[in-house]
Amino acid sequence: MIIVLKSDATQKQIDHIVEKVKGLGLKPQVSKGVERTIIGVIGPEDKLSVQPLEVFPGVEKVMPILKPYKLVSREFKNENTVVSFPNGVKIGGKKLVMMAGPCSVESKQMLINVAKVVKKAGASFLRGGAFKPRTSPYNFQGLGEEGLKYLRTVADDMGLLVVTEVMDTRDVQLVERYCDMLQIGARNMQNFNLLKEVGLSKKPILLKRGLASTIKEWLLSAEYIASNGNLNIVLCERGIRTFEDATRNTMDLNAIPVVKQWSHLPIIVDPSHGTGSWSWVAPLAKGAVAVGADGLMIEVHPNPEEALSDGPQSLLPEKFLQLMEDSRKVAHAVGREI
Ligand code: PEP
Ligand code: MN
Repeated sequence: MIIVLKSDATQKQIDHIVEKVKGLGLKPQVSKGVERTIIGVIGPEDKLSVQPLEVFPGVEKVMPILKPYKLVSREFKNENTVVSFPNGVKIGGKKLVMMAGPCSVESKQMLINVAKVVKKAGASFLRGGAFKPRTSPYNFQGLGEEGLKYLRTVADDMGLLVVTEVMDTRDVQLVERYCDMLQIGARNMQNFNLLKEVGLSKKPILLKRGLASTIKEWLLSAEYIASNGNLNIVLCERGIRTFEDATRNTMDLNAIPVVKQWSHLPIIVDPSHGTGSWSWVAPLAKGAVAVGADGLMIEVHPNPEEALSDGPQSLLPEKFLQLMEDSRKVAHAVGREI
């Protein structure tokens, strides 16, 4: 349920409503917009019959949220969410945010080489997995904390932010210490305990879409994070499983305008996992920018043939620089910047 306040509602009136809602054992979430303040109320709605709240001073109207996801819905908050980082980088504004790096952190030297390219290209985030969700238990599983240390040091030296995956509730506090943004991978999109745990984090969350999840399920996963208090969520479309097997996944660019209509959260696109092949990454990156993505995540490797994971979809540094230049032109054409 959403309580829409009058534009001249006072802080005292807001506090009074919040107390009343809490007193009923429900969770109020105050969202202060430019025009007016709204209070989202999560919990069994029968506890709160519409009638009495509408007569509270400062209340304009009380509306049920019809979508199953509440806090992340456009109904709850009409303005786009912009996720900000301490160095001034913002996700969800006019400027697109670019994230790039190897699939896995393999060694410090390799990370330095890639980070130089990432910086030169004008990207803001260094990506790289220290904990890798591999299909086979015999494949490289990541360097763990050693990899996190490399990410932090190299990114700091280069003036970049770090986004990296956390796979286990037991590692959230560890990964949080080294990164600027916690990534929830496709395979963990419905790991509800992990979602609840990162919902308690102060760091923004990058929530990748599950391999075979609908947009509604994805937004419900975002709701798990939001309902635990963390509204700094960025969605990442990374391709879904379909009957088509020419590409590793099917890059669902439909999801971008759909998410934009249904939710206020920013959304970025990962065409590396979306296509699975380096030669299709750039065309889909440009497509993603054209349909309104708020950023891109791209896998880059200095020597893809030797990569410990996802070599076939990793771009050589020069290809990544070209992708950035071309995407910039598309961004300008649709009134955005990179
Ligand atoms: C990754 O970003 O390296 C990754 C494992 O992605 P996904 O969870 O989308 O497969
Ligand atoms: Mn990968």
